[in-house]
Amino acid sequence: MDGAAEWRVLERALMLPPEEIFALLRDYGLRRKGGAPGLVADHWERCRGAGRAPGAAPGGRAEMSAAQSPVVVGTAIDGSDEFAQGQHTLREDSRRVLTGLLIAAHAVGAEHCYVCVEEGQDYSRLRDALGELAQDGDRRRQAWVGRLGGVQLKVMKRSLLLRDPGALLANLTHRQALPDVRYSDPALHGLDGRPTLVESAETLASVAAVLGMTFVDRNSVDASVAEGEKGLASSQEAQGRLLTVMVAGQPAQVVFLGGDCTIREAIETALGACVEVAEVQGIQLGGPFGPFLGGLQLENPLTVALVEEAGGSMGGAAMRVLLGKQCGVDLALEALRRLQLESCGKCPACYEGVRQLVGFLESVMAGVATSQEGELARVLSQHMLTASLCDVGKLAPAPFLSALVVFADHFGAHLEGTECPACVSRESA
Ligand code: SF4
Repeated sequence: MDGAAEWRVLERALMLPPEEIFALLRDYGLRRKGGAPGLVADHWERCRGAGRAPGAAPGGRAEMSAAQSPVVVGTAIDGSDEFAQGQHTLREDSRRVLTGLLIAAHAVGAEHCYVCVEEGQDYSRLRDALGELAQDGDRRRQAWVGRLGGVQLKVMKRSLLLRDPGALLANLTHRQALPDVRYSDPALHGLDGRPTLVESAETLASVAAVLGMTFVDRNSVDASVAEGEKGLASSQEAQGRLLTVMVAGQPAQVVFLGGDCTIREAIETALGACVEVAEVQGIQLGGPFGPFLGGLQLENPLTVALVEEAGGSMGGAAMRVLLGKQCGVDLALEALRRLQLESCGKCPACYEGVRQLVGFLESVMAGVATSQEGELARVLSQHMLTASLCDVGKLAPAPFLSALVVFADHFGAHLEGTECPACVSRESA
């Protein structure tokens, strides 16, 4: 889609009342991406509702008091090498991200708009698109952008915690990038107490794509929009999502995850002919917080639901491919040590829990752990799921708990002091 077409989609959307935008997105069934749950329309409507003055009837933006007017925050933060969707979207879809952001602002009745990127990302295309927005264009679009005071670009230091909306909002208000109970539900109570819509760049780009396609379907926009949208996504593309695939020794790759491919096919797409898929021992789905899945599960369809259920982490689908024989205890230990570096220490359940799990896994590797300690580690994991403030603590037990199942023979061998099949084959290699 050329730039003019994207801005026309925005101009067309600005002519629609918010309720109609919600209805279009709901009819389409567009889900939020980047690890956030639920339908886009439900989330936006909730945020708009929270910004409405008490007792006011739904309608235009006039019913919102200034103090309650919502804020929209788009984020392309990746936070770590395990995720690359933000960078990919900035590179491929910057105009669509801005289009989706401004449509969101219109739909929820926002007074301010931010877009967050991280140091080290190439956001030059986003800057170019911001420049285009400021140039002459449709009067309605110019008036709307002017009213918002433009879109404020925020560049933040890289941190995995910034994938948490609360930490992102804390950082936006010049506080440390730490999860914050004040922002436990930003759509109702966010920046300065105002309803704050936090959406991933991937979601915003999809909103622009879906509305663009809807306008073409309705034959209600000019030919240039239709032309621009031709190469755009099928409905499957707008419904699908991006997946970052990592294999040791290779740069991360971002692939598009459509409706009905299997995990095996996704691996083959990402790796091409470089690696024998038969060598794949398993995968870790959902980044460093994600669970391990064993070889037999490779034939499962890699649906959006599976990614969200299995990895449903601090935003983003990521898949680490495990090649050759690797010890499951060692893999879980490596994952927990990685999470130990991320834990900010705010809640004991997370900070102390991760420390204890690391200690237990080290004992297993050293052959001195007991099965009673194993039971305690399981109980502790359940406690972490419920007592941690953010996803780091809530999801930290996933690699450990899943490794217990997927690599049961490795754990059994280490606990019983017999030969671990993975460690033996590594030593003999
Ligand atoms: S769960 Fe962990 S990372 Fe999140 S706030 Fe608590 S201590 Fe910090």
